Amino acid sequence: MADCLFCKIIAGEIPSTKVYEDEYCYAFKDIAPQMPVHIIVVPKKHLANVLECTEEDIEIAGRIQLAIANIAREQGFAENGFRVINNCGRDAMQTVHHIHYHILAGGMMGEKIV
Ligand code: 5GP
Ligand code: ZN
Repeated sequence: MADCLFCKIIAGEIPSTKVYEDEYCYAFKDIAPQMPVHIIVVPKKHLANVLECTEEDIEIAGRIQLAIANIAREQGFAENGFRVINNCGRDAMQTVHHIHYHILAGGMMGEKIV
């Protein structure tokens, strides 16, 4: 989608530090990490957020889960654990409107999510 930051990153028009890629998903390091490990996972298909997902996107949703598990194993934080966050809309402060999942790892996190 034109004017979408993450579509441009997926297309290689904006540089990123790639962590993982398959037919459906792309993952890269967050530019402003909030944990020692902070990775963004996106589907290659542009969807603004979870509210835009339809039955057509069920395979993508599953592929994202598998990509996250693959990344966790490959990057070596599967055993210690990690947190996955998806922000949707205003109250969650979603700033990039291409659905994405934050993977946070590399240290103990708070007991609460917010
Ligand atoms: P949101 O707040 O929408 O859930 O998360 C957007 C995330 O994208 C933020 O954590 C932000 O640091 C990250 N981000 C924004 N612009 C860029 C960029 O140009 N490159 C990378 N690698 N991450 C970005
Ligand atoms: Zn996009």
